[in-house]
Amino acid sequence: MQRKRKNFDQIVEFCRSPKAFLKHLDACGINRAVLINYVAPEVIGFTPEVNEWIARYVQEDPKRLLPCGSIHPKHTQNVMADMEQIIRLGIRLIKIHPPHQLLYPNDYLHGVNELEIIYRAAEANGIPVMIHTGTSIFPGARNKYGDPIYVDDVAVDFPKLKILLAHGGRPLWMDTAFFLVRRHPNVYLDLSGIPPKTLLEYFPRLEEIAHKSLFGTDWPGPGVPDIKQNLDDFRALPLSEAAKTRMLEGTAVEVWG
Ligand SMILES: [Zn+2]
Repeated sequence: MQRKRKNFDQIVEFCRSPKAFLKHLDACGINRAVLINYVAPEVIGFTPEVNEWIARYVQEDPKRLLPCGSIHPKHTQNVMADMEQIIRLGIRLIKIHPPHQLLYPNDYLHGVNELEIIYRAAEANGIPVMIHTGTSIFPGARNKYGDPIYVDDVAVDFPKLKILLAHGGRPLWMDTAFFLVRRHPNVYLDLSGIPPKTLLEYFPRLEEIAHKSLFGTDWPGPGVPDIKQNLDDFRALPLSEAAKTRMLEGTAVEVWG
């Protein structure tokens, strides 16, 4: 990031100061942000410290900043205790990142019991789970895990769990993502990381599933230089105003209440 991003200093400043980040959101016309964090020691280097860090960060304004955290099913020593900590910290979303955590979302069917406990506890406590779908070019990421089809099992086995398909399987598996959103009442489509200008090429029938889709940027991920530009490009799409409002506000309100 340091080598490639012009605004690297700004990102560092926002990581340090939630006040500065909130000011930036104001300037972009954004009310609320979900701040994605997950444990992925092998590929990214993130440890479980991310949970406490983000819980502290959002205390500046918990209404506007929603903390996302995670438990790594294969690294946790005591999944029940870790799940209790997630709940105690007020984490509002759990991210599972298969290509960076090196597992399939349905690996609870193949011996990873911790994953089942995470899904069960999230379901029981009304915490949505976001599952990364689609590719990652990060060194060491394994892309076989990015296929959304494995989320089908999760949606069947945990029918009350709200599941967000992050990035809609971009760029290889949009058809699968579209199918899952239409098939399962508990599966939602997250649009982050898809450039708004190409969104309708990826999802030509987006209007049909707008009521289950939600806007996001994936900033400061690679290929997402600017939050405001992303929002402006999304607003300019030839979709109905009702569909855009739903994706910008309504679906998120339904997911988080
Ligand atoms: Zn992701």
